[in-house]
Amino acid sequence: MSDTKSGFSIERRGLELRFRNVTLSAREWLAPDFVRVRLSGPDLADFDSPGSDDHMRLFFPSGPVGSVEELRAAPSREYTPLAWGDDWLDVEFAVHGDQGVAAPWAANAPLGSTIGVGGPRGAAVLTGEPGSWLLVGDETAIPAIRRFAALVPEGTPARIVIETTSAAGEVALEAPVAVEWLHRGAAPAGSALISFLDALTEDEVVGPDPFVFIAAEQSIVKPGRALLARWGVDNANAVVKGYWKRGEAEYHAPH
Ligand SMILES: Cc1cc2nc3c(=O)[nH]c(=O)nc-3n(C[C@H](O)[C@H](O)[C@H](O)COP(=O)(O)OP(=O)(O)OC[C@H]3O[C@@H](n4cnc5c(N)ncnc54)[C@H](O)[C@@H]3O)c2cc1C
Repeated sequence: MSDTKSGFSIERRGLELRFRNVTLSAREWLAPDFVRVRLSGPDLADFDSPGSDDHMRLFFPSGPVGSVEELRAAPSREYTPLAWGDDWLDVEFAVHGDQGVAAPWAANAPLGSTIGVGGPRGAAVLTGEPGSWLLVGDETAIPAIRRFAALVPEGTPARIVIETTSAAGEVALEAPVAVEWLHRGAAPAGSALISFLDALTEDEVVGPDPFVFIAAEQSIVKPGRALLARWGVDNANAVVKGYWKRGEAEYHAPH
């Protein structure tokens, strides 16, 4: 596949880094461990996120802050902008027990609570048309997968594979193909996806000229890269990323 020219590429764009104050205005549980929140405020007027797997940094100060410096000193975590308008921004959180800063905030903070949004400060924009799509991830990648799935033209070969703990974790997702849900049960996060990726052979390519997006717990990176190698997919035309790391708070994925 690497010797034929691809019909698409991933274009990197720099965006002006802005910090915005926003207020928690709504919360909707889509599954027992998955919540969508709406952040609102006038600071969001010119918010933009042109790339489907863009990330922004959410800042969680313990009280009101008076300056950007104070905001930036607060604990922060990376999240995917799902959808936005003039004065609102929706974000979806995988809720994983009561550990951490971001997930407990999303699950429990009173409506009206204030947090900060930094970025996105860059975007990776898919330009052109992939011949086929493979979108793979755990709960943390559902927002990015939703955004990519919205770009898949009807009739183009595609597979969307998402791992959750059990059937209770499945959420409605608009896509031109049925989502394949894998359940890890009591096994470590990522293990069902790793088995799936390892079993995809060279001749099981989803279709011609594939765009591959794989994001989940960090142990997904090795089998993800191995798949690209087997399929002859150029790393520059794919995204394989650890979105979090078992046992490590505030994991920073290498960019
Ligand atoms: C580019 C990018 C985009 C992302 N987009 C999203 C998104 O849209 N929605 C989303 O939910 N997450 C997303 N994530 C993942 C999110 O940033 C991490 O899960 C983050 O660590 C959560 O912060 P926390 O404060 O809840 O937990 P932390 O304080 O970071 O971690 C506390 C403990 O919880 C564990 N932990 C962290 N995340 C999980 C998890 N999902 N399941 C089980 N255990 C976990 C850690 O290993 C650690 O032991 C994204 C990550 C990246 C790199």
